[in-house]
Amino acid sequence: MGIQITPVTKGVCGSVEIAKLFSKHEIHSIGDSHLQNIQRMKEAGVEGPFMLLRSPMLNEAESVIIYADISLNSEMVVIKSLDQFATRHGKIHDIVLMIELGDLREGIPSTHIDEYIKQISLLNNIRLIGIGSNLICLNGIKPTIEKMELLSSFAKKIKEKYATNLKIVSGGNSANFQWAQEVEEVGLINHLRIGESILLGTDPISRMKITGLMDDTFVLEAMVIESKQKPSKPSGIITFDAFGEVPSVKDEGEINRSLLAIGQQDLDIKGCNPIDRKIKILGATSDHLVVKSVGKKLTVGEIVEFRIAYRALLHLMISPYVKKKYIS
Ligand SMILES: *Cc1c(COP(=O)(O)O)cnc(C)c1O
Repeated sequence: MGIQITPVTKGVCGSVEIAKLFSKHEIHSIGDSHLQNIQRMKEAGVEGPFMLLRSPMLNEAESVIIYADISLNSEMVVIKSLDQFATRHGKIHDIVLMIELGDLREGIPSTHIDEYIKQISLLNNIRLIGIGSNLICLNGIKPTIEKMELLSSFAKKIKEKYATNLKIVSGGNSANFQWAQEVEEVGLINHLRIGESILLGTDPISRMKITGLMDDTFVLEAMVIESKQKPSKPSGIITFDAFGEVPSVKDEGEINRSLLAIGQQDLDIKGCNPIDRKIKILGATSDHLVVKSVGKKLTVGEIVEFRIAYRALLHLMISPYVKKKYIS
């Protein structure tokens, strides 16, 4: 349907290995929200162009010009600063103007579009290559057919009024999958920025596997460091746990309890699930994951495997304590 894709590498902390895989395909650009990741990918020889997804911080404007080819923006003061550094470096910097469609994260109110377009057109070294929107992330607002039609209509007005060639109209992120399935006519939307769906093969709205994609691309392996039969219910006076919460535990008698050498510091335990259905997570502290195993005792040194969701992936890929092994 003529939609270009910018695969997003922030979920894998700008992994050079994964970015190199992406750049073998026909993509618009590689997207990341951290300039450090873009810099690292670029220096490691990943082919761009690179799109900075998070609006630049004012104090990184010069580095944005040096490392990123395109940035998403919603503040005039930042865009002007980008223009100054672009001029200094003799570069033309491409921007996508983000428009607020209701999720209330980044974006200018649609009533300000004219004012922004006029001001941007006065800058010599900034090229407005498109408009975009971001939904779902903060308030769960769904990218519906109506929302996308609205963005499309803004693009149409801009094109007509200013005779500018908006190269991209960037509808959103992985949450646009259902929209892309349902919609008959995409209008002027011709670009999406996709992280989660490509990396994990899932639709973030339905939480279902996307047909044709793999949903077992990442497996977490953690080693058993203690395995014992212990009571399920703690004994003594219960106060607060390591994270300031009062644990409540059901008494199921003696169970097989094992400790794994990974914890909250490295992952979000709500986003990881043991592949072996007989193993259940009981809890985690900063550096220990505690599981029970039903009908079998784990052995010390044994590896337990987990499926991971996006929120767990983010932490795991950032953690220096987690070894990353790439298998092709
Ligand atoms: C993170 C991010 C994306 C990618 O989101 P996914 O849900 O992983 O597809 C796209 N656009 C922006 C602005 C982002 O911050």
